[in-house]
Amino acid sequence: MKFNDLSRRNFITAVTATTLATAFSNVIPAYGNTRKKSGKLAIFGGTPVRVKVWPKWPAMIADENLIESVLKTTKSGIWSRIQSPTGTVATFEKEYARLMGTQLCIGTGSGTQALATSVEAMDFGPGDEIITSPYSDFGTVSAILTSRALPVLVDLDRDSFQLDPEEIEKKINKNTKAIIPVHIMGMPCNMERIMAIAVKHNLKVIEDACQANFAKYQAKQLGTIGDLGCFSFQASKQISCGEGGAIIGNDEVLMDRCFTVQNHGTNRKGSNVTIGPKYRMNEFEGAVLMGQIAGARARFEKRNANAAYLDAKLKGFPGLVPQKKYPGTESSGYYKYAMSYRKEHFNNADRSKFLKALSAEGINLSPYIARGFHGEPWVDEILGLREYKALYSAARLKSYKEEMKMPVCDLVCNEEMVVLEGVASLLGSTQDMDDVINAIMKVYDNRDKL
Ligand SMILES: *Cc1c(COP(=O)(O)O)cnc(C)c1O
Repeated sequence: MKFNDLSRRNFITAVTATTLATAFSNVIPAYGNTRKKSGKLAIFGGTPVRVKVWPKWPAMIADENLIESVLKTTKSGIWSRIQSPTGTVATFEKEYARLMGTQLCIGTGSGTQALATSVEAMDFGPGDEIITSPYSDFGTVSAILTSRALPVLVDLDRDSFQLDPEEIEKKINKNTKAIIPVHIMGMPCNMERIMAIAVKHNLKVIEDACQANFAKYQAKQLGTIGDLGCFSFQASKQISCGEGGAIIGNDEVLMDRCFTVQNHGTNRKGSNVTIGPKYRMNEFEGAVLMGQIAGARARFEKRNANAAYLDAKLKGFPGLVPQKKYPGTESSGYYKYAMSYRKEHFNNADRSKFLKALSAEGINLSPYIARGFHGEPWVDEILGLREYKALYSAARLKSYKEEMKMPVCDLVCNEEMVVLEGVASLLGSTQDMDDVINAIMKVYDNRDKL
């Protein structure tokens, strides 16, 4: 039995190596020299690699199931969650908690609202500092500002595009209360280090898992590692209802506070107990979510399979380096399939030239986020606001402004980031993935002409 197991493992290793070698053989011979069969770039009048269009998200999941679900809610007359404890929102919350591997879930009107509710429920506000990433959806920062806490940004790791744990520790002071790590692209942050830092400095952790449902790190799903996990169901996200969000957690008291906060300060018993906006998810959003949830896990797996295929095809290719995975990363939400563009391997052609040539081949990759938040107008805006000047010392606001330098984030935004949209594109066929790789390699072969 032991012997059989062992030989089987060897066999698998051998097969995997052969399969990978075969997979690479389509790609690798091109490195470092030109190839005849690539042909003339489409941008110069050659034939494009791909003419087919990609399916559109979220239209592609608007099937009979989803439409039926919305119709049912429309006819039922239960349009607000407070009309029924067994409506679509309550049902979705139960189902989503189960899928995310947690006990409790609260729906909200957006991911931003989920984050803002979490900050408020933890009683963070004026005078408090919360550490997060300059590279995210602005909702992450907005959620901190809404409570009038100070969003403290830390620079990125160049290869993972995630907040760099080394930089986090440098920015912790006596007013720091929490870290909001952003699992950018749906890929796990270095949560082992981040949780260790949080424990050491007694900080709370709110995971911004808005791009990361189902993704796993060290046997845990993202959103279940910190104190709370926040998700988004905005139109572009993998599970989508136009605008929507959720908070997940296991701490009953804290989750109860979250419910009260997003319910304009009114608790589950109907008592008006605290400060809170009204961030409730409505029943139509719940219906759209319930109408698609059955297929969500399979779509997540398909995205991971296609991403693994792309990873294998790009392995060893120096021109585009896929997003770094920290040890313990088991999967990603793959909101985007992100790569680092290294122009020194493309005859020093700027990213924009590469992307333009690629687009002519029928493959549209994007630079994604144009600027890190440290370079946006809100920084000067809050420094000039009467309330921020009243709540924080002049010395702190001065150093805050001085610390808004993020050279790695700038490099990622201005020169290196290249993403394939992941939510719809990574549901494509192997042929679709080959189109992406073939177009990249065709441009690479012709790099001296860019
Ligand atoms: C989408 C997103 C948000 C905000 O979610 P909304 O539902 O759009 O408010 C926050 N953080 C990240 C990383 C996101 O991708």
